[in-house]
This record gives sequence, structure tokens and C-alpha cells, in this order.
Amino acid sequence: MKIVNSKEVSVLVSGPFNDPFDYVLEYENINLNVGQIVLVPFGKRKIVGIIIGDGTKNIPKRKLKTVLKVYDLQPIPKPSIELMNFLASWYCVFRGLILKMILSPIEAITSPDYEKLYKSNLLNDNEINEFKDIKISKKRKIVLDFLSNLNIEKSQFMITKHTGVSKAILKDMVQKKLILERKVFKKVNLNHNLLKNSEENKKNYDFLNLEQKLAVDRINKSIINSKSDCFLLDGVPGSGKTETYFETVRTCLYQGKQALILLPEIVLTPDWEKRFFEKFSFAPLVWNSEITKKKKKIIWLSSLNGSAKVIVGARSALMIPISNLGLIIVDEEHEQAFKQEENIRYNARDMAIYRSTRSSVPIVLASATPSLETYYNAKNGKYIHLTLPKRATGATLPHVKLIDLTIFPPDKGKWLSPLLVGEIESKLKKKEQSLLFLNRRGYAPLSICNSCGDKIKCVNCDAWLVEHRSKNILVCHHCGHSRIFENICMKCGVKGQIRGCGPGVERIEEEIRETFPLARLIVLSSDTMNNHKILNDTVEKIKNNKVDIVIGTQMIAKGHDFPNLKLVGIVDSDVGLSGADLRASERTFQVLQQVSGRSGRHSKKDEDKGVVLIQTYDSKNPIINAIAKNNRNEFFDNELMSRQYANMPPYGRLAAIILSSKLEKKLETFSLELLKLAPLFKNVKIFGPAPAALYFLRGRFRRRFLIKSDKNVNIQDVILNWTRKINTPNHIKLTIDIDPFSFI
Ligand code: ADP
Ligand code: ZN
Repeated sequence: MKIVNSKEVSVLVSGPFNDPFDYVLEYENINLNVGQIVLVPFGKRKIVGIIIGDGTKNIPKRKLKTVLKVYDLQPIPKPSIELMNFLASWYCVFRGLILKMILSPIEAITSPDYEKLYKSNLLNDNEINEFKDIKISKKRKIVLDFLSNLNIEKSQFMITKHTGVSKAILKDMVQKKLILERKVFKKVNLNHNLLKNSEENKKNYDFLNLEQKLAVDRINKSIINSKSDCFLLDGVPGSGKTETYFETVRTCLYQGKQALILLPEIVLTPDWEKRFFEKFSFAPLVWNSEITKKKKKIIWLSSLNGSAKVIVGARSALMIPISNLGLIIVDEEHEQAFKQEENIRYNARDMAIYRSTRSSVPIVLASATPSLETYYNAKNGKYIHLTLPKRATGATLPHVKLIDLTIFPPDKGKWLSPLLVGEIESKLKKKEQSLLFLNRRGYAPLSICNSCGDKIKCVNCDAWLVEHRSKNILVCHHCGHSRIFENICMKCGVKGQIRGCGPGVERIEEEIRETFPLARLIVLSSDTMNNHKILNDTVEKIKNNKVDIVIGTQMIAKGHDFPNLKLVGIVDSDVGLSGADLRASERTFQVLQQVSGRSGRHSKKDEDKGVVLIQTYDSKNPIINAIAKNNRNEFFDNELMSRQYANMPPYGRLAAIILSSKLEKKLETFSLELLKLAPLFKNVKIFGPAPAALYFLRGRFRRRFLIKSDKNVNIQDVILNWTRKINTPNHIKLTIDIDPFSFI
């Protein structure tokens, strides 16, 4: 008889719960750890959860339900659990919901893949001969020979790979009882043929320039000593940041540890993967929105069991339970894409820093245009600031010039100044490429009826519909609503009077086609490049000089290295400058700097230096001037001063409460009731409830509170104590956004 012990454990289940529940766990002699994944009964359902400690003993044992199953997997590592706890409390969300993200895809746990194992059913050659009526064909003999060691089972994969026989033959041999089959759970174990020889490694390191080497050495020290230092790897585009952090990843692998690289989804291109492969001779495990569940299962399981070496992914990759983490890289750390704006609002970069401290591993934030918060932390010594001041290829920085549109305006009905057109023409003559940047998808951002003046709006949102002429539709960029563009005003009924106002990339395309009908043209925006393959093919085309002029949205701003691109024209640098939100100028600066960095990345001589032309109606604007004079730090310092003056982050704290409902009147009443309960503290200021900038979004009305406090205030507590004073009716959704990025 089996000896069964039992004890009470506290289990956090995945779902909208903050507190764990007690269960009884019956076990034989398993060594149980916190983080062990279990299946428990929950009401009428069964839910997956993790053991987070001993039972509370608040409920008598006989009343407790019993754990149904302990999964045969490594426990969720402690730093992941600590991250879950911290993230939940920082962003005011349920712990169980974060756990759900950690245990995703759940199928990796609940429906593991099987593998078939075979062994021979025959003792020796004599026995084979006894199977008189079964012909031992050549192929069958090969299999039997391969399985000649009768004590060793071999997997289907191994047998088919080494003998070349098909699965059908194995199946047939099982039926004829020549071999025996057994099904087992497939243990994921990724045997990357890891590192090249040390000569190769040395070559890679020797290739780096002095600044790169200093950076690598400094980071390596922290990897080897398991120190959770936070580095800012700060260098102009093309200064060799990627090359630098690749070398630190190598060190991490040498230490026998796993590396996590977080990238904004749009930077995670096949191009990047190719580059990684060329360096390391194995493919990194890529985790993004396009990969299949099957791949996700493999990545998740191999991260947990430690066999995955390098995991690279968009922000949700931070949640993967990596057991033996040695290094975290966050590339393009300033990117807004790291902040998730729906469901659980969290910033993966900030949480990655927290995770690095819990795992005692260094983290590298790489950027050419760090976020102001990061710049501030590096400046005051909280982060270690590593700089790569020049382009690694030895290329010169591009020559940046402003085009004052008040003096050199475009022809009537056009958007490009003759100066810019002239420069494109000269590049075409020299067979060099030009890039025109405009961060606006579609043909025109606004359509107006000339007859009645009506501006065409979305039915679900307080936003204009954008004409996409290539598809002949009007689209809402907020909710995706679209309809066919018929050029009849819905308001006054007059035909043929709807006119597009302002340019989008399609309109610039039209203008270029008219001016340079022979030029080979491509538009790069999320509309034309809607999957990785198209994007990859297009990038290759540009690299191979099959394109003369590229017109692109901010999709083109990052990552790519186009050797023959010598001119960047910024069509409308004033977009974004007028935005009222906290980060408008910082963001504009970042985008303009990134795009400018595409120009002349490989030009070594002064005479073929890259050129950047910036069109503006506001030539005195400090952002544009900072770009033109390559004066980033001065611009950042001024920006910091104004933040300090306003007690804004990074000097103060900021949070938002967003209320939304389909019922406008009731929403207003509720928001005023909430206002009446607002706490009165000297160091906390509450603004609102104001109609959100997008007052009507996806069919819901929206109001916002903005909460601003001194740095030392626990703003989460203030907000929770406040919002808990009132019951939120079912029709209202109340969202708390800590450290908001978006103010719409
Ligand atoms: P970043 O990430 O800063 O934009 P990359 O690492 O992509 O820069 O490097 C830009 C280009 O310079 C790449 O083509 C890369 O191979 C090359 N490069 C990087 N480091 C060096 C170096 N030390 N010497 C020569 N070329 C380099
Ligand atoms: Zn809409």
C-alpha cells in the first residue's frame, strides 16, 4: 500500500483573484516547492494555479478540497512569482490575472505533446527467422538493427532520422509485433549546438571598437558576478549597440545561463533574426504575436526547464518563466510599444528592470534616444551610462538641414518643397535611394464636404475617418471601422464634393509618381506591410537596390540598415509638435532622430555624406533645432527642467483613471460622485473628470481623471482607497493607468 501524506497548501489560481485559496495536497514523497503548478477544483470548474505557500489554517482541513493534480514540471521560478506580485500591486490589478499571463499558453501545461518510443520485440537473429510468415524486408531489418540494443527505447524522431524509414513502416511493424510502441509525454529539450570555438569568439570581440569593448567588458563583469546593474547603452543609430549586446549575450551563454531580449514587435524582423543566426549559428526562440501555439508551447517549456538559450520577443515575453536567467536586454527601450494599453496596463521595460533585480542579473537598456526617465536615471547615477558616440562603420553623421516652408513652400496642391524635390532628383541621377517620412497612414487624415463643410467622422469614435484611396475606403484608425468611399456627402447629399485635407503616405506617393514617373517606388506602412513576410521581402528589395524612393510611416524609422540610402526627407515635422501630452516633444524628437539616422549609414567620405531635409513651418522650434544641431543632451536637459518645474515624471508621479460607458448621462453622474469622494492631500492633485481627448471610442463614452503627486506618495494606495469608497456600476468600466503613456 502506498503511504500517502497530506498537508494544507495555499494556491493562487489563474483568473481575477488577488488572494490564494487553501487546498489539501495528498502526496507520497514529492519534494514540493513554492511555484509548483497544480490543478484544483474551483466551483464547478477545474483551474490551474500555483502553490504559493503553506495553508493558512483558517478553514478546517476537512472542509477543504483536494488538489487534483501536480504537474510534472519545474516550479515557476521565484523571480517570476515576485514579478507577478510586484506588477499586480504596482498597476493595481489582480495577481491571478498576471499569473494567467505567466502560465500562457496554458496548453503547454494541460495538453503536453506526446512522443512515441519504440523497442525491438525480438531477441536475436534466430528469433527473426522464426517469424516465418512475416517477411523481414530490407527496411524492417534496418529498423530492427537500429533497435538491436533491446534495453534501449528510441524515439520515432530518432529512428526516422537515422534509418530513413517512414512512420508508416514503424506503424506496420508494431501491428506485426516486430517492435513495441510506448507513448510518453514529450520532454522539450533544446540542444542548440551552442557556441563556436573560442577563436571565433575572439574574432568577434576583436572586431569591436574601443567604446564597444569597454561597454562589453563592463556588462560582462556584472553578468559574471550576478549583479543586477542596470545599464543604459546609449549610442547614435548605427553606433554598434546591437553588435555590443550580442557579445554580452555570448558571455551569458558561456556562463550556462539563459538570455532574454525584449524588442518592440516592429524591430523584431527576420533581418534581426538573420543577423543573430550569423553571429551564433543557432536561431533564437522568437516570441511574437504571429507564432503558432505549438511554437509557444516549446518556447515556454524549454524556458522553464532551462534548455532554451536565447528568447527574443515583444513585451509579453517578459512573462515567460525563465528558470536560469542570466541577462536581460531591452532594445529601443524608449519605445511606446513596451507599454501595454489594453487589459492590463503595464510597462514591460520597467517590469524588466524589476525582474532583473529579483533574478540578480544585469539588464541593458539600449537606445539612440532614451526615454527622458531613463536619461534622468543615467544622469543621476542610478543606471550605469555606457556611450557609443560614433557610427561603428566609420560612417560620418548625416548633414541635417531645415527647409522653411514659409520661404520655400510646395506648389499649390502639393506637399513637397521644390528644395526637397530637387534633392530627390539629384539622388535619382546618382542612383542613390531616398526615403520620405510621414507618420500618417492612408491618403488624407481628414475628409471634408466642400458643399456643407461636414467633416466625416467615425460612428463609434470621436475621430475622423481616414481616406485610404488604394482600397477606396474610409477607415477609423482607432476602432478599425471602415466603409466604402462613395464621394456623396451623408449629411447634405451633394455628390463629388468630398475633398481630402492634408497628406498621408498615399498622397505623397501620388505626388512622387507625377513628378518622377520612372522612379521605382514603395510605400511602407502597416497597411501595405501587414505581415512579416511582405515586410521582409520589401526590406530585401530596398537593400538590393531594387527601389529608388521609399515612402514610409514610423514603421521605417527603426532597425533597418539600407546601405544605399542617402537622403531622408521629413515631410511634416510639425506633426506631433502641437500635441498637448506630456511626452509629445520627447516622442517627436525620438522619431525624427531615428528616421534621420537612416541616412548615409555607410558613407565614409564627406562628399557622399547622408542628407536629412526637414520640412517645417516652425523653423524656430527647439525640437527641430536640436535635431538639426545634433544637440540631444541639451534638448533633454531643457525638457527635464520643464518637467521639474511642473513636478511631472520623473520628478513627480502620474496616474490616470479612465471611466467608460455606453450610457453618457450615467457616466457623467458617476464621475461627479467619484469626484466628491476624491481624497484631499497636500501633495496629491486631482484633475478632472474631463472628457477624454477621444471622448467617444469604440461605442463608449469616456471620462478621465489625472492624478499627480509628489514622488514619495504611494499613488496606488491613494487611488485604491478612493475608488473603493464607491461601488462601480456594471455598465461602467473603471481602468487605472499608472505611469500613463497615452493621454487620449
Ligand atoms: P545600432 O544597433 O547601434 O544601430 P549596429 O550594431 O546595428 O548599430 O551596427 C550598425 C552597423 O555597423 C552594422 O552593419 C554592424 O555590423 C556594423 N558594426 C558594428 N560594430 C562595428 C565595428 N566595431 N566595426 C565595424 N562595423 C561595425
Ligand atoms: Zn472608430
